[in-house]
Amino acid sequence: MSDTKEKIILTGDRPTGKLHIGHYVGSLRERVRLQNSGEYSEVYIMIADAQALTDNADNPGKVRNNILNVALDYLSVGIDPSKSSILIQSQIPELPELTQYYMNLVTVQRLERNPTVKSEIKMRGYSEKEDGKGTPVGFFCYPISQASDITAFKATTVPAGEDQSPMIEQAREIVRKFNSIYGDALVEPDILLPKSSAARRLPGTDGMAKMSKSLGNCIYLSDPEKEVEKKIMGMFTDPDHLKVSDPGKTEGNPVFIYLEAFAGPEIPESKAFFEEYAPDYQDLNEMEEHYRRGGLGDVKVKRFLNNVMQETLKPIREKRAEYEKDIPGVLEILKTGTEKAEEKAAGTLSDVKRAMKIDYFDEPSVITNADLAD
Ligand code: ATP
Ligand code: MG
Repeated sequence: MSDTKEKIILTGDRPTGKLHIGHYVGSLRERVRLQNSGEYSEVYIMIADAQALTDNADNPGKVRNNILNVALDYLSVGIDPSKSSILIQSQIPELPELTQYYMNLVTVQRLERNPTVKSEIKMRGYSEKEDGKGTPVGFFCYPISQASDITAFKATTVPAGEDQSPMIEQAREIVRKFNSIYGDALVEPDILLPKSSAARRLPGTDGMAKMSKSLGNCIYLSDPEKEVEKKIMGMFTDPDHLKVSDPGKTEGNPVFIYLEAFAGPEIPESKAFFEEYAPDYQDLNEMEEHYRRGGLGDVKVKRFLNNVMQETLKPIREKRAEYEKDIPGVLEILKTGTEKAEEKAAGTLSDVKRAMKIDYFDEPSVITNADLAD
């Protein structure tokens, strides 16, 4: 192979709440698959508490309390601490140090153009405050800090949902700019999106474009069985599908989007789901055709989705219950992961300082008398 570069993963989540099924299909499920594929020499999974504080500065308790929730979610979906390092962002001071240097490489205009930041600013109401300039500076700059997170670990691959594409693009630009000014010290990352479009951006149970902790339209991985059922049975569907006999729309219909993400043709268990819970259909395609034709009621489809979700979530719930019995053990996993991650980040920071020739005391020759002449 010509490309012998080591493959390294960095990915993460903001501890602003428990993780939901959007995170699962958009990123977690993929992470576990990649972690177990043997193709990656290092896997770093970051609990981005410092990033969460950029828009939750007045509520640090929420961020602190959710660190453990997110760690339990990771472990319960199958992140294996012997293969992946789980780290807490704020405990690695090398990350903000990198950010400080990267900030010089990005313009205000470029940040303002980032579509994810733009929509998040709007969603948080910052654009209505202080003459449209009510965005906390830290929040505005978080794409730069995210570039530090990715590059600190020399990550080649970032498995994430679609909303992260502009962030990765921004990180790539920073890497290119840094390398062109100071010499090749940084690695350009690639985003790895899930194959199915349903999984790239799972909508909320309310039909909103994105399931998001901040919008309260989520099914959480840790929701009890009854809660999941209640949320599914109350889901938004095609508003024009009033009678069972009416033809229905599957496109843009969140119930069918969830089915694509959890029982679509790419899901290994999908055949078993249909055999067990919807034997009238071979696969999702046949079920969708029936719905579009008319004659298939929403309640029946939702019941099927509920069965699929319960089957998917049961082993996750069980594993979580096991880890909940040993919280000190979970904290130890976080400590070990963070220590390993800091070692890696420190190495990168040294590379960066050497490239920038600001490693004055390690390499005294970078400051010479010749400079006095300038
Ligand atoms: P917040 O509202 O605090 O931003 P969030 O629900 O958007 O929370 P993040 O922690 O920002 O979650 O995102 C973590 C990861 O999960 C990212 O890779 C993101 O792309 C992915 N992700 C989040 N929501 C979805 C979704 N609805 N569908 C697919 N992927 C998602
Ligand atoms: Mg988000």
